This record gives sequence, structure tokens and C-alpha cells, in this order.
Amino acid sequence: MATQAALGAPRASAAGAPAIFYAPHQDDEAIGMAGSILEHKAAGRPVYLVLVSRGENDGLARLMNVGAWGLRDRCAAPDHWHDLNWPTDGANKIVSARTAEFTASAKAIGVDEVIDFDLPDSAHGDATYGKFVDAVTAKVESLAKKYPGASHKFSAGWLDVTATHKACSDAAYRLKGASGWEWSPKAGQEPKRDATYILMATSPGSQQPGSFLTTTVHLRSPEFESVTATTGVHTPWVEGTQNRGRVTFTTRGAQFQDDAQALGTVAAATADVETVTATWVRGRDSGAGWIRFPSDGIKVGHGAGGDLGTVTADKISVNGINTQWVGDRDAGKGWIEFPQSGVSVRKDGNQEWGTVAADKADLNGINTKWVQGRTAADGWIEFPAAGLNVFQGAENRQWGTVAADKADLNDLITHRAQVKERLTLQGGLTVDNVLETQDGPPRLIVHAESEFEGKVNANGHLSVRNADVGWIMHTRDDLVAINGDLRVHGALRSDS
Ligand SMILES: [Zn+2]
Repeated sequence: MATQAALGAPRASAAGAPAIFYAPHQDDEAIGMAGSILEHKAAGRPVYLVLVSRGENDGLARLMNVGAWGLRDRCAAPDHWHDLNWPTDGANKIVSARTAEFTASAKAIGVDEVIDFDLPDSAHGDATYGKFVDAVTAKVESLAKKYPGASHKFSAGWLDVTATHKACSDAAYRLKGASGWEWSPKAGQEPKRDATYILMATSPGSQQPGSFLTTTVHLRSPEFESVTATTGVHTPWVEGTQNRGRVTFTTRGAQFQDDAQALGTVAAATADVETVTATWVRGRDSGAGWIRFPSDGIKVGHGAGGDLGTVTADKISVNGINTQWVGDRDAGKGWIEFPQSGVSVRKDGNQEWGTVAADKADLNGINTKWVQGRTAADGWIEFPAAGLNVFQGAENRQWGTVAADKADLNDLITHRAQVKERLTLQGGLTVDNVLETQDGPPRLIVHAESEFEGKVNANGHLSVRNADVGWIMHTRDDLVAINGDLRVHGALRSDS
């Protein structure tokens, strides 16, 4: 332990002038100053020890006698019981008992001279606190005059909960601002590793604080089982003991490093963040998928190499797709690929052509082997080199029927033709074989002239009629009958 502050010659090694320690009460010399007193003695300094107040605390004597207080009946020393049998007369007799102990303690730790300010322990009252500080200040000043060059050592400080201790600290701070005094350590040279602890002993029955000890220690590399900070920890970084991973606190937040000081790994079940900035993101396993972030978007892959991966989603809303092909989810159904000439529709997951089903298709051209109605029973058309063939359904290549309002053809080659109303032949009619009438009145009506370059055979009879007089000539029953005159320009010959 060290004193918190000193006035006068600062160092234990400053030989010659005395180091004067100020104990607010009896026992403070042992609890708060003994280590520093021994340091000064070891450095060859004379040490004077001031007992500031009389310590007339009769309640303390009763506690020490009865024993059952915060430390139960046993003090921290082994095999030692608080059964001091101190006088309890109300106040005064405790003073001589405590002071005798103080004197013995001072002797034990090598103090050269004990000085008793003999002040009442009156700093506990609000009305008397200031006067107590005044009295301490005046007495310290008088000692300073008496021992020029001495250093004045105060323990405790403004955090102390014992009023008399705090008052001694206040006196020191008051002298700090007075002329002729030098405060040690100087401003900016205070030990930065100091830490102040307030130790609280509680009564086991009531859990009420029973005693306080404030002390300041130097810590270079302390070890604790655990540390609890109630308001915060200020440190540039935190590092593990066995595994030397480190958390460094930067102006922007915190940085995690591994034991080689490279950026480390944070393991957590959940991370709840506003923004993630990453070079890439991947699943936990070595073969898992990953996402990288090139300047034009994201790239999804899997495994250790650069293999592209699969994005599975309920829907994708995009402005454009650049893809080699599009397929069904199980890859065994229809799919589309995109050659330079357009799109190819395939089926069954292989190269066989598939079926496009649509309500309408608006095309500039169709190249196709055949065209058929929607079912297998419907007619169909195929396209041989000579033109087109029209077939009935049922796959038996029966010729089908073409129905149209008009057909404008250069040639008509047909096995049969049936004209339901009228056949008009503008260029004439050439019949290679027989022209015969079949149904209806068995007659052929020619309104203009009829010319026959060959024979005229009339099976049955041949009749020549005149619109004016009815029939003129006919053959019938091996007889030629003339109705009217018969004019013969040459000979009329009869063979019978
Ligand atoms: Zn004390």
C-alpha cells in the first residue's frame, strides 16, 4: 500500500528530513500506512507518526469486548478472539486503551516519534466538520514550520466514508492550494495504475454495512478470479489468458483479433445488427453455399471453389434473366434453351422436342412437318415437297376433306367430282372417255349447236325436235319416222 498523496519531500528516499504520517485514528497507522512507513524507514528516513483524533468511540469498545460483531467473535488474525476487556465508561477510557495500542503499533513498525494532536473525534457532525478540518490544517502547518523540509503523508481521500478520515484528506487538499507547499506527485505524474477499493464488512445478521476500509493499491498485472465493475470498464483492449484472442476497442466500436493479431472469429448463436459489411458470406460446413459481392451484385456459389450454386425461393422478381436454359424443378420435365436463333422447347429432360401450349400464336412463319387439330382424331396436314396433303384423323392416312368457298386452281386432278349445283366450263369440256348422266331426268341439254366429230350412237331412239312443230324425225323400233317433208339431193337407195 502507498499513501494516496504527500506534501513536502515526495520520495521515501529523500534522506534527512522526517516523513510525517497522519493517522486519523488509532489503528489507521497499521491498516493504511504501515507499508509506506516501512518503505520510508528502509530508505533511511526518520518517520514521525501523528495521531490526529482521540478516537473516543465507546461503542467500538463495547463491540470489541462483546465480540459478536461483523467479524463474529474472531478477528482476521488466526486463533485470536476479540475479548479485549476494554473499559467502557461512556467515552474517555477507551481513548487511553486505543492510544496504548497505537503507541505499541508505532513502535513495532519503527516509528521514530509519535505526535498526538489530541483533537476530539468530532468530524462526524455536520456542524463540527469544518472546524475539525480547520484544526487539522493549523496543526499540520505548525509541524511544517517546526520541521522544515519534512514530507507530510495522508492516507484515505474524498471517497472515504469515515468523516474523520475524509477531513484529514480535505486538510491536505486545502494545503495543496496554499503557497509554500509542494504536492506530490505533481499534476500529470500521478501513478496511473492506482486503483481505489472500498472494502465493506457486513454484519451477518442484518447485512448492514458494519465497517469500511478505503485503500489505494498499485496494480501492474493483477490476477483475479473474476472482476465485477458496477459502472464500467475503461481499457484499450481485452485479451484471453490461455487463448490469446483479443478484443480491441476502436473509435468505431470493437475489433476482434486472433492470437496472431489477425482479424479473428466471433462465434455466436445470433447476431442482431443493422448492417453487415462482408467480403463474402458462407454456411458453416466446408461444402456449404456462399455469397460473394462483386460490384454488379451478388454471386451465389458452393463448396471450396468457384462453382455456382442454387438459389431456392418461392418467387423471383427480376427485370431480366440471362440464362443458358430454364427447366422444371425436378429437371425431368420440360425445359427451354436459348440458341442464337431463338428458343428451343424440349421435353423429358433430354433433347426431344417438347410441346408449347398456348391460346394463340402470332408468327411470321412456321416450318413444320405436319399440322393437326388438337386431338388424335382430328384431321392433319403434312407438307411434302409437292405441296400439302390433307388427311383425316386416326393416323391411317385417309385423305381428308378440304372445305372452302372457292378454290382457284390451275389444274384439278381428281378421281371423282361432284358439283352440287352447277358446273360452268369457260374453256370447254374435253372428255377422254365417256360422258354420261346418271341421276335425275336422263338427258343432256345443249342450248347451242352440238357437234360430234365421231359417230353418234343413240341406244334406244334418236329424236330431232323443232320448237315450232314438235318432233321432226326420230328413230325407233328399227324405224326412221319423218314428220313433214323428206328432201333428198342425191339418190335414195333401198337395200332390201
Ligand atoms: Zn480511523
